[in-house]
Formats: sequence, structure tokens, C-alpha cells
Amino acid sequence: MLKRMVSTLDLRLLSIEESRAFARVSQYQQFFETYQFVHVSSNVGALFGRQGESVASSQGQGECAVVLLQTVGHFRGQQSCLLLTREGLVLGQHFQEELQKMMNRPTSALLEQSSTSENSSGDGLGIFIVDDFGRLEERDCLHSGARMEAELVTALYEIGKSVESRPLVVIHFSTTPGEHVSMKPELKYVGNMHGNEPVGRELLLRLAESLCDGVVNKDKEIIQLINSTSIHLLPSMNPDGFELALKTEPEKRKWLTGRSNANGVDLNRDFPDLDGVFYELEKMKVPKFDHLMDLFSDDKDRQPETLAVGRWILSLPFVLSANLHEGDLVANYPFDSSPEGKAVSAYSASPDDGTFRWLAETYAKNHAHMGKNDHPPCDGTAQGAFSNQGGITNGAKWYSVSGGMQDFNYLATNAMEITLELSCEKMPSGETLPQLWEDNQKALMEYMWKVHSGVKGTIYDQLTGEPIEKAVVWVRNSSAENPIKHPVTSWVHGDYYRTLPAGTYELFVGAEGYEPQAKNVTVENKVRDSAMVVDFALKPIQAVEEAELQEVLEELAAQAANNEALEEEN
Ligand SMILES: [Zn+2]
Repeated sequence: MLKRMVSTLDLRLLSIEESRAFARVSQYQQFFETYQFVHVSSNVGALFGRQGESVASSQGQGECAVVLLQTVGHFRGQQSCLLLTREGLVLGQHFQEELQKMMNRPTSALLEQSSTSENSSGDGLGIFIVDDFGRLEERDCLHSGARMEAELVTALYEIGKSVESRPLVVIHFSTTPGEHVSMKPELKYVGNMHGNEPVGRELLLRLAESLCDGVVNKDKEIIQLINSTSIHLLPSMNPDGFELALKTEPEKRKWLTGRSNANGVDLNRDFPDLDGVFYELEKMKVPKFDHLMDLFSDDKDRQPETLAVGRWILSLPFVLSANLHEGDLVANYPFDSSPEGKAVSAYSASPDDGTFRWLAETYAKNHAHMGKNDHPPCDGTAQGAFSNQGGITNGAKWYSVSGGMQDFNYLATNAMEITLELSCEKMPSGETLPQLWEDNQKALMEYMWKVHSGVKGTIYDQLTGEPIEKAVVWVRNSSAENPIKHPVTSWVHGDYYRTLPAGTYELFVGAEGYEPQAKNVTVENKVRDSAMVVDFALKPIQAVEEAELQEVLEELAAQAANNEALEEEN
């Protein structure tokens, strides 16, 4: 029963009204009212259940199935867990009896009750706060210092809405939620951009759960990761497509059902085509390689999901990212679009080809199968098996895509993004999800650690100590003649991040009004939770000129003094 439910579950969170209504009819009313309802969306949900914790029931309401998720988020000290429902709700096994009673009540009764609720002010949906009761009580007893750190390191925020008004919700893990903190790199994972590819969505929720668990259980690795990293998880970029794919019977579901958003647009073709700008500049020999949005314009109306995610990408100094898809088993890296455009399949190396290959390999090698020759190719042929190339591929070599999100990250910002294809089948049966988590867990972790590779540092004014924003950092691999045609720029706090594999490099930093500076570095990537710190104190040009002027004046004065002395002698 559960297995079937898991694969066809219509996921949503309770609305705030429903949550409160439930709180009212529940004998646990007091408990539920102790906790705050967090404004969040319907699109965060998960198919992951746990043996013994998940129950399904269908009494009088069709399929009323819910899977209890463990703690997924903590919001400003409020413990909050996701609860997945279809029509009704089910709690953990301790609540089975309660659930049974609930399932016998028509939903309308719940809603009626909620309309009389004086506190029912919320629009949008609520995260329902539920966990294994025993554990919660235990946690509640921990009042002071021992209180769960997990409560302090997670937050949820919304970056926009889908066409059908489903919120796009990000789960944020950080010891410093809110603003970007200098020297702490920002990392993101995006799932479910194609609505009919839900594995990424499920994996990201499972990842959130495992990070939470890690904090609660004082897992050394996870605590070290969260202490040093700002992690943003967007489980679903296309909740509307997901709903459509899910609603469609598996037999009627075509390969592309639910791929696009509700307006029928493929979101991974809807980003500004900055590859086109890059190739054009290259052809014209214009030395501009990065932050190409400045030069981009077209008259296309972009989709709300694309706009929301695009703005989000530009709003933080993201360093590293991955976009989770399905349809194959491979880690795909830029460029995605070949210079010839159209459907030409030809390798198109980005300036950071080496670094991207290394990042993609990191994922593939740490995945249970991706990098191994232990599985048949997804297309059923023996040809072009990605496992022969270590489970990675250049995007354009595979097939050319323009307007994709991966290259947009690279060409519009400092962030490096790869695209992960995690399953041959687009909507695999729910029962495969635990295995998919097993296969990907290590890779998801190891890839996140790569946000601490290479160099980072602060660029500031040598005289005033003020941070310098938009300073440009170029890198030259010591074995190459020219720098990599992809400088990164410093953020408002003067901080910059440059992902690099181990090696020796020369860094050049330039900023308007300052004398440029260069430094040689040997990157070892041996410290797991920090890139090598290389700061730059730049000398203002005016100061340089003044110093030179001073020198000249002193020289003149000295000469004049000499002359005077000579005259006197004469
Ligand atoms: Zn896809």
C-alpha cells in the first residue's frame, strides 16, 4: 500500500488554516499551538518515508496518505518539520490512532472549524510542525546551552512564485542565516527544474533531513560543513510541472509530460543566452568574458520561475552550484551550447574546462555508479556510454542547449554550476528513492565540500582598510601562458572566491582607482573547510601619484638646495 502511495502521492503541505484546524480538533492542540506556523509553500514535499514512521490510510477520503518527514527545517528557534499530505494527514506511528480518527472526519469539517478561528490570518501555506513525539519532548526539555543547534542553523525563504502561484521555497542551512557573511562561501542545489524529474527534489529534501539529523546527532562532518558554509537548497524550481506529471497516470504520462512550466515553457531554455554573447565577443576579439548580463538584451518575456531563480542567482555571491535532473546518469559541465548553435554536437570548452571537469568528476566518482562501468547506458545502446568517460560529459558535446541555467550561472556571475542527470527514468517508482539516496548521498556531500577549494580572500584599500567591491581577480595556471578567461569579482565586503583544483597559480587583482597587484600561490586544497586565504591590500592610484609627486618634489628641492649651495659657493 505504502509503496503505491509513495509513487503517486500528491504532495502538499497543509494550509495554515488546515494546520490550525487540525490543531483545534487534535488532542494535541496545546502542543501544536506552542509552535509557530511558518509561512512556506506547497512545493516542498518529499516522497521519502521511513519504515515504521510512515503510514497510509484510506478511509472515506480516497487516498489520504501522508508521509512524515523528520525535522527538515528550523526557523528562528522554532522547530519545524515538513509534513506531507494528500487530502489529509498522517503522523508518525505514535499517532496512528489519532490519525485514524482524523481520517474519518471529512476535510470540510476541518475547514469549517478553521473559518471560526480567530487566529486564522495566514495566506499561503503552512509548514506543519510535527516530529516523533518522544524525541520532541526530549528536545523540549533541553532549555539552555544544550538546546539543539539545529534550530539555529536553518531557515526557509521564498524567492518567488510559479505560474500557478506555488511558492518557490529555499531551505537555507547556515550558522549565520540572513545576509551573506564575508569569507563564508554560498552554495546551492536546485532540483525539479523539469517538473517530471522529481528525484532531485526528493534528494534535496532528504539531504536537508540528513543535515538536520547530523546537527542534532553532533555528526562531526556535518557540523564542520554547516559551520563553514552557507547552503541553499531549492527542492523544486517547477512545482507546477511536477503537479501535472504527478497527476497524470503513469500509463498516460509521456516522456515530456510535466517537463515545462504551466505556460508550456522549458525553463532550462528560458535563461538569457549568454553563450551567444560570449561567442560573439570572442569572434569580435573583445576581451570581455564574464558578467555578461551587462551586455545582454532581448525582447523575450521570461517565465516567473526563470525570473525568480535568475534574480536569486544574481542576489548572492554563489560560488558553487548543481542543477539536478533525470533522463540519464552523468555529470554535465559547461559549455552547454556550441558556437555553431542549433543542434550541433561539438565539444565546447569553457575557459574553466579543467576546473569544471574536476568538479563533475568529483560528483561522478563519489556516486555509487555514475563514474563506474557497472551499468548499461540509459539509451540502451553500448555507444556513447558515459561511464567510459568517467561519468562526465561536456554539455555541448552531448547536445547543444541554449538559454540553459548552467551556463547562465557561469557567464552572468562568479558561480560555477554543473548539471547532474541522476536516473535513466524520469519518474522512477517511489520505492527506488531510498536506493537513489544511498547512491547519491556521498556525492552530494563531497560536491558541497568543493565550495572550499581554490582561493578566497578580501580585497581592500591599503590606506583606509575599506573593502573594495567589484575588484577583478584573474588567475593564470603557472603552466599556461595566459590567464583563464574568466575573472571573478569581489562582493560588497571585498570578498572573492575562486574555485580551483590543486596547482600553482598566479593571481592578478585589479580595481578601478587602484594599482594592480599579483601574487603567486600554491593551492593544495588540503584544508577541507576553507579555501586558501589570499588577501590583497591595494594601493589607491591617487596615492601612487601623490607619492611620485612627493618624490619629484623632494628631488627638485634637493636639486634646488644643491643649486643654492653652489650659488653660495660661487
Ligand atoms: Zn531535465
